[in-house]
Amino acid sequence: MELNIAGISKNEGFVERFEITDVSNQHATIRFCGEDLEILSPIKVTGSAVNYEGKIKAEVHITTKVARTCSRCLERFEEDIRVDTVFIFVKEARDDNEDFYVIKSDKIDITELVLGEIAGEIVMKPLCKSDCKGLCPVCGKNRNADDCQCEGHAVDSRLQALSKLLDKDNG
Ligand SMILES: [Zn+2]
Ligand SMILES: [Zn+2]
Repeated sequence: MELNIAGISKNEGFVERFEITDVSNQHATIRFCGEDLEILSPIKVTGSAVNYEGKIKAEVHITTKVARTCSRCLERFEEDIRVDTVFIFVKEARDDNEDFYVIKSDKIDITELVLGEIAGEIVMKPLCKSDCKGLCPVCGKNRNADDCQCEGHAVDSRLQALSKLLDKDNG
């Protein structure tokens, strides 16, 4: 993934819009909490870069989809990733409080930066949908697809087991 700033790098105040569609990382995996998550769609990076005060400030919007497993129902689904962030590039390291990346040419390889932003947006306990009903703890059925009749019985049978245990102790 390359961001080319040749059109603005020599001209203070110049702005350049960019729209990058990266297919080379589609199907690549991102390491996240011990899992390798597949990138399912091309990574789109859009935004604009401005040359000001000797820096290149790029406001970027990143979108893609990542393969996930729902933490409740264990079904596979596509997690939508959307990140808005700012990258600041400088030609020489500077001593100020801003986070910046030192660049050597006008063609900036932003692959690692973008993959890092995607990894930072991945959620810990993903849900296929916000109201996912999960798996029935008794019969294991996916309750999104099919309502089972276990709910009441589950509690009953546990109580029965408990009362049997208590009976035994008393006897
Ligand atoms: Zn789910
Ligand atoms: Zn059930």
